[in-house]
Amino acid sequence: DRDSRRETPLGPILLPDGDEIIFYANVSSVLDAQRAEQDHASGIGLVRTEIFYLQHDGDWKYEQQVEVYRQIVNIYSRGPVIFRLFDIGSDKKSTREIKEDNPALGYRGARLLLGEPDFLLEQVKALLHVIAEYRREHEPRDINILVPFISEPSEFFRIRDVIEAQCRTMELEVPRVGVMLEIPSAVFCMDELATRADYFSIGTNDLFQYFFALDRTDPKVSSFYDPNSQAFLRLLEMIVTATQRLNIPVEICGEIATDRAMLRHLIDLGFRTFSVNPYVINGLKRFVQREYAPVK
Ligand code: PEP
Ligand code: MG
Repeated sequence: DRDSRRETPLGPILLPDGDEIIFYANVSSVLDAQRAEQDHASGIGLVRTEIFYLQHDGDWKYEQQVEVYRQIVNIYSRGPVIFRLFDIGSDKKSTREIKEDNPALGYRGARLLLGEPDFLLEQVKALLHVIAEYRREHEPRDINILVPFISEPSEFFRIRDVIEAQCRTMELEVPRVGVMLEIPSAVFCMDELATRADYFSIGTNDLFQYFFALDRTDPKVSSFYDPNSQAFLRLLEMIVTATQRLNIPVEICGEIATDRAMLRHLIDLGFRTFSVNPYVINGLKRFVQREYAPVK
């Protein structure tokens, strides 16, 4: 990294106009959470909870869930933490294999959670348990929940209902709950989603896959992968414009922002918060600093 001799700013990058560019970390392991802490990520923008579940071959007990969620909020001590509900199916397969011809278009994410209410409720309880415990023992911190693979509003509303009902049972203030925009249809109902979503997180890996009908796991088609394409940028522009009109926070999640040309496009479109794997955050910060806010 040719910027590596420069000092890396610890916090967000302040642009000359006063805006901040914020980098969060995507976390798929406890090690990732350590790295996020060590490299001063401004938050954890995504905990892929399903990875932990899949590592236990689908035999991940309630107590074990609680323990891992607790570990993550303790290891990473600084900013917000976003726990995504299990996004199982498609490329994130479980051993309770369901045979499907088109798993990417099949029983995955929110669909699976709604199809297995006990499974959903167990995770909601485990997350709320850790959130409640944290609130009792620490200064306020935004620890919240993100719902994956939403294609239309009623799916999100039904899952949010489950979270709210459980909060009533536990006499707990409802944490923020966000929607992943990763299926193109969801982009066309952002107004309705925003009536009950606290923020949007754009799952660019999947949004790209479903927008271009391009399997993210198939190396034969990966050479067609150009996120800098006009069509995709127009879709992202639609999203950022809608979030500004609706006055709702949005973050870009996924590896797209690690491509520097793309990161420039995204910043120029108006995106300010990016969640990427923690190992690249310092390099990206130095890049943004150099491009947008050079130190005199
Ligand atoms: C995405 O889809 O862009 C995303 C961040 O989630 P995942 O890669 O886990 O599907
Ligand atoms: Mg995704």
